[in-house]
Amino acid sequence: MKLVLFGPPGAGKGTFSGQIKKILPDIPHISTGDIFRENLKKQTELGLKAKKYMDAGELVPDEVVIDMVRDRLSKDDVKQHGFLLDGFPRTIEQTKALDEITSIDALILLELDREIIKKRILGRFSCPECGEIYNKYTLPPKDAIGEDKWKCDKCGAGIEFAQRSDDTEEALEKRLDVYEKNAEPVIAHYKSKNLIRTVDSTDTLKMSEEEIKSAIGYKR
Ligand code: AMP
Repeated sequence: MKLVLFGPPGAGKGTFSGQIKKILPDIPHISTGDIFRENLKKQTELGLKAKKYMDAGELVPDEVVIDMVRDRLSKDDVKQHGFLLDGFPRTIEQTKALDEITSIDALILLELDREIIKKRILGRFSCPECGEIYNKYTLPPKDAIGEDKWKCDKCGAGIEFAQRSDDTEEALEKRLDVYEKNAEPVIAHYKSKNLIRTVDSTDTLKMSEEEIKSAIGYKR
């Protein structure tokens, strides 16, 4: 299958990719954000080109992303097993370029209320000792020892809630605004082709295999 996974930051695209992999274990999961991060780690020319945009939370220029995706989609694993594109297309130019490269079976639109996204992202924190991940609103440690203070369920260390520096409300609002502005024409484009499949992403981990198959339009 040739699928695009689409949705706002914090909607759980990574989690839902894992669910799709249960149905289609060989499908290459192609995340443009991951490819940029790998290139940055290896200090490649592409990584260095993308760095300043990524640092500022801005989109890397279309021509850079489009060339990268065109190259990735020409590989043998894609010819054999299709693809699950995650994080591309993000703009109408990227959408048109993808149309020229190939035709997709569906765009899976993960929908989640903005207030829930904010709680998910702004509430997350981890144990400074063992790294166990929690959420102040949705998944706090069991043992509260004061306001915003707990004992870690896993290692027993004392933890005080501290927001990640890149998870401020202001930065998140900006990322959500950027998403909404760019998403509108992309969604309209695929809606006109009748290719949108909407998934409520409140709790996709609870979906059964049958529900996932039906959500992505898998027929075999
Ligand atoms: P992500 O992990 O998908 O949020 O991507 C991380 C960063 O990589 C983004 O903030 C952008 O700077 C860049 N990026 C990833 N995918 C794209 C894309 N399709 N178009 C432009 N920039 C992208």
